[in-house]
Amino acid sequence: MEDALEPEKKRTRGLDTVTKMATSHPRAPALTARPQTQGQTTAPKVPKKTGPRCSTAIATVLKNQKPGPAVPAQKPAAAAPPLLGGKKPTKRPAWDLKGQLCDLNAQLQCFRERTQTLNQENQQLQDQLQEAQQQARALGAECRTLEGELARVQAQAEQSQQELGNLRAHVLELEEQLGTQEGLVQELQKEQLGLQEERRGLATRLEEQERRLQASEAALSGSQAEVASLRQEAAAQAAALVEQGERLHGLEMERRRLHNQLQELKGNIRVFCRVRPVLAGEPTPSPGFLLFPSGPGGPSDPPTRLSVSRSDDRRGTLSGAPAPTTRHDFSFDRVFPPGSGQDQVFEEIAMLVQSALDGYPVCIFAYGQTGSGKTFTMEGGPGGDPQVEGLIPRALRHLFSVAQELGGQGWTYSFVASYVEIYNETVRDLLATGTRKGQGGECEIRRAGPGSEELTVTNARYVPVSCEKEVEALLHVARQNRAVARTSQNERSSRSHSVFQLQISGEHAGRGLQCGAPLSLVDLAGSERLDPGLALGPGERERLRETQAINSSLSTLGLVIMALSNKESHVPYRNSKLTYLLQNSLGGSAKMLMFVNISPLEENVSESLNSLRFASKVNQCVIGTAQANRK
Ligand code: ADP
Ligand code: MG
Repeated sequence: MEDALEPEKKRTRGLDTVTKMATSHPRAPALTARPQTQGQTTAPKVPKKTGPRCSTAIATVLKNQKPGPAVPAQKPAAAAPPLLGGKKPTKRPAWDLKGQLCDLNAQLQCFRERTQTLNQENQQLQDQLQEAQQQARALGAECRTLEGELARVQAQAEQSQQELGNLRAHVLELEEQLGTQEGLVQELQKEQLGLQEERRGLATRLEEQERRLQASEAALSGSQAEVASLRQEAAAQAAALVEQGERLHGLEMERRRLHNQLQELKGNIRVFCRVRPVLAGEPTPSPGFLLFPSGPGGPSDPPTRLSVSRSDDRRGTLSGAPAPTTRHDFSFDRVFPPGSGQDQVFEEIAMLVQSALDGYPVCIFAYGQTGSGKTFTMEGGPGGDPQVEGLIPRALRHLFSVAQELGGQGWTYSFVASYVEIYNETVRDLLATGTRKGQGGECEIRRAGPGSEELTVTNARYVPVSCEKEVEALLHVARQNRAVARTSQNERSSRSHSVFQLQISGEHAGRGLQCGAPLSLVDLAGSERLDPGLALGPGERERLRETQAINSSLSTLGLVIMALSNKESHVPYRNSKLTYLLQNSLGGSAKMLMFVNISPLEENVSESLNSLRFASKVNQCVIGTAQANRK
């Protein structure tokens, strides 16, 4: 800016000089004192009034001339030249008027010259003044232009200032941003360092992986060769496997045949006797009341015999001597003394249960007086303790697991369960739920279809089962149904037969084989007889009717077994609901097992002997050769 202003100042200074020059002229009269002899190049500046003043001086000189004595006019030796400037002219004597005039003329001449010179000078100055004024006007115009320019420049300067301010603010802002960016850059640099470190690590790992890959590739090519040879081997093995599968199937069929033969050798009707332990609070029987003589192989042989000693009280009382005892010996396929566990009992029947999978109907009964342990044997003890689980849950678990094993050989099995109760010759569903629960709506035993051998219970639930839990749930429902019934009719459960049936269907899709058979597990009603000496009240009459129904159905069961054993043409299945329902599980191709449950108490000896006699009769029966239900 200063530079921009500089020529302006210079111009202004130049103007000043001119103005000073112009204004210095009035002082020019001071120059009058200067002697003319100094010979100035410029004409000496003479005040305008110089002329008149000279005239006045002359006039004054003339006036002051006093008439003096006549002095002879001396002629000056030489007329004294008029002095101008410098040297003062020698004063002429008063009388020398001529000289004086001469001087005055000279002076006048001198003044005239000077006046002329001054006029010229004045003219020059006038010209100069005009020139200066023109110059001043030009300069004024220039000055105004410059002022305009100055204003514009100032405005520009202001704007620039403002812009500068804005720029400074922007710069600050940018500096701030720069600071942030620098921080970011530092962070990024740090990150970069970390990443570089990571990259180095990854590169190392990559190298390692590459090395491993190379090693793996080498191993792979080795393995591929091995795989090729293994494939060949596998193909050979697959062929061998097919062959083995064939053999296995042949072996399985052979196993079934042998298994069946074994079961037949054991008898298609088997009787096991089980004596329950003395319960807490019950009287201890006299020693020797029940004996379990060892078999021919000694104590290591499983017991098959039972001796019951009965004292003949009447004979003893009559003679006064100690009552003599009568020993009753029984022999069965197996005898389980008190203390035999549920697992031991099941072990003996597991193979029989398995026959049902092979297509042979299987029927297991629990026979005995009330309280002898039938329900304990079939369903199990109280409290859900696995140790005391009965035959039903154990048999089903066994079947499920064997069916799974046979699945490996191409067999698929399905199981459908039902559980009914026969009380006073009426059938009631123990699996009923919802509104029918505990009501025991009338159920009927019918043929599944016209001409069909299969029997079904109308209104009863047939539930597909495939695992233990489902069976447990069913047993729970049955227990609840029995509990509801118990409130209306006292101990009805012991006065009725409970029939659990499992319809087993097996299929070998690959060979187009099918097999199916029912497994029936029956908890029979108490076999005790009514005391003939009892007075018959209304309750007892009802009890008598129940007992007669039970006795009738139990004796029908005996008769059916006998008829089957004797191969009679007529088997009285229809004489009781129980035998009718079990028709397909008895006889012909069926396998039967009867548990005779015995109380260990002496007071029950009579009923025990009755049960044992019934069971012995059954034990003597042999039912024809069983044939598997195969299609
Ligand atoms: P039932 O069904 O023949 O009337 P239960 O099975 O109800 O007889 O048995 C009567 C009582 O004896 C039950 O309390 C039962 O727990 C018990 N009991 C039966 N057998 C055995 C056994 N082998 N071991 C232990 N307790 C038994
Ligand atoms: Mg019972």
